[in-house]
Amino acid sequence: MATELLYLDDFDVLTAPATVTAVTVLEDGRLDVVLDRTCFYPRGGGQDWDTGTIRGGHAAFRVEEVRLDEHGVVHHLGAGEAWKESAGGEATLEGAAVVLEVDADRRAVNTRLHSAGHIVDLAVERLELPWVPGKSAHYPHMSFVEYTGDVPGEVEDVRQRIEQEVAQIIGEGSRNEIRFMPVADMGEYCRHVPDNIPTNKPARIVLYNQTFGVPCGGTHVRDVAEVGTLSIPKIKSKKGVTKVSYAVEDVN
Ligand SMILES: [Zn+2]
Repeated sequence: MATELLYLDDFDVLTAPATVTAVTVLEDGRLDVVLDRTCFYPRGGGQDWDTGTIRGGHAAFRVEEVRLDEHGVVHHLGAGEAWKESAGGEATLEGAAVVLEVDADRRAVNTRLHSAGHIVDLAVERLELPWVPGKSAHYPHMSFVEYTGDVPGEVEDVRQRIEQEVAQIIGEGSRNEIRFMPVADMGEYCRHVPDNIPTNKPARIVLYNQTFGVPCGGTHVRDVAEVGTLSIPKIKSKKGVTKVSYAVEDVN
């Protein structure tokens, strides 16, 4: 059964009660813990996974990696020796009530980086650059948004204009809103709707700046001002693809 994803409804939920539904020992000796619900973000959409702790019984299970599988099940992976011993074997943990605690600092960094990518998109839209969003990465060691389309004019000039526009957007500040809606309705709010969004359930958009919808399941800042200083160190354009690298103050 798919794991209930608590981070979809609430930007800020970092702790929650849950029930263990399965525990598996992996080939490498780590535990794979599955829960009925989770506030841990699994890697996806260019955003890195959360780390943290699952507390139950007398011991804590350290979550080192989080993955979402094709059935919508979230796998919390970690060493868990103490947890196994405390529970007297992994099987007895099934059905246990636990408390989830996401590492707040790491989540905050990933969230700021991820939202920064959408703010670059919003700046590109406001500047009316003739680009279609492509892949993106929001990792501390690698943050960029790629677009199909060439740079109109001088690269340095466009780089400066984007940097000024993102500063303007962040300086103005604005609260982000969550909306659930059928994929067919997303075009009303979103400039670009990818064609690989699941259509058998309501999907989520996040509305930046009251006007700029992004179909996205990641975690986002509540207010764009939380991103802080966002710079554009480099733009590279090759064979019709333009890569805009960005950096967020105190992160990268
Ligand atoms: Zn996103």
